[in-house]
Amino acid sequence: MEPEKIIDGKALAAALRVRVAAATARLRDEHAVIPGLAAVLVGDDPASQVYVRNKNRQTVEAGMNSLGRALPAETSEQALLEVVEELNADPSVHGILVQLPLPAHIGASAVIDCIDPEKDVDGFHLRNVGRLATGREGLVPCTPLGCMMLLEDRLGDLTGREAVIVGRSNIVGKPMAQLLLGANCTVTVAHSRTRDLPSVCRRADILVAAVGRARMIGGDWIKPGATVIDVGINRVAADEAGKTRLVGDVDFGPAMEVAGAITPVPGGVGPMTIACLLRNTVVAACRQNGIQVPDI
Ligand code: NDP
Repeated sequence: MEPEKIIDGKALAAALRVRVAAATARLRDEHAVIPGLAAVLVGDDPASQVYVRNKNRQTVEAGMNSLGRALPAETSEQALLEVVEELNADPSVHGILVQLPLPAHIGASAVIDCIDPEKDVDGFHLRNVGRLATGREGLVPCTPLGCMMLLEDRLGDLTGREAVIVGRSNIVGKPMAQLLLGANCTVTVAHSRTRDLPSVCRRADILVAAVGRARMIGGDWIKPGATVIDVGINRVAADEAGKTRLVGDVDFGPAMEVAGAITPVPGGVGPMTIACLLRNTVVAACRQNGIQVPDI
């Protein structure tokens, strides 16, 4: 075990939260602006409840206002759209996120389309997707943004590196590809129809796994010395008594032997995601008030 190979997302996220809290304090003291984040939760999905509770707690800890709403599972799409419109119009709310997945009777696209793009701190609105794709200033999805911060902290300039992303979802794989392209990597996006995935992965100087399949990526899929970012969160049985634990998409032990650096699960990408959400809220609050965005 070589501890220096492990990319400590927990520590980097804590450092980012300190910078966010400092920027928040400056906004309050110098401009009388308190960033407000509204996380909207519909229904009682236990995992979503935990995520939203964590987001709300960390928002308050950073000195921001947590202005979220919890709505019953039977809330209609129309009623949810009205809540989003209210938050769009509320000047004390600078960031809005609607926790996904939504109950089946509500169309996620209609809800995302309704969020004011300037308050869209998840970066899922078409306008922010377009801005990212065309290299213009917008709000960037939190998980890929966190991955980029981890990579740049470890590697510095990423120019010219071969990057392979496994997974092409709108929330992780595709925005990750745009960010790596923007950082001058040569980018390959692999998915469930990719032929000979192990050899595609073996090309990567930077391998990002965002699949949702426990330990799918073996040690022999990794180029020696590569930097591995494991986005996957998979719950597996830990013992015969029915206890569970979280593992990534990468088979951590064997991968660690080969990789130059690797994120653990938990404690890698996960903590960066919420820290980036708080960062995006500060950025949104600055832009909405015509204040220069600090470097955080
Ligand atoms: P999706 O289910 O939306 O996408 C999964 C992607 O993986 C798809 O593009 C799919 O391909 C691809 N895929 C599935 N099976 C295979 C396979 N056998 N070989 C190659 N590719 C495959 O997932 P998300 O992007 O939303 O999430 C991915 C993982 O990241 C999950 O474990 C999720 O829990 C985790 N996650 C973690 C976050 C964090 O904060 N750490 C935040 C968000 C997600 P195709 O398109 O062809 O179907």
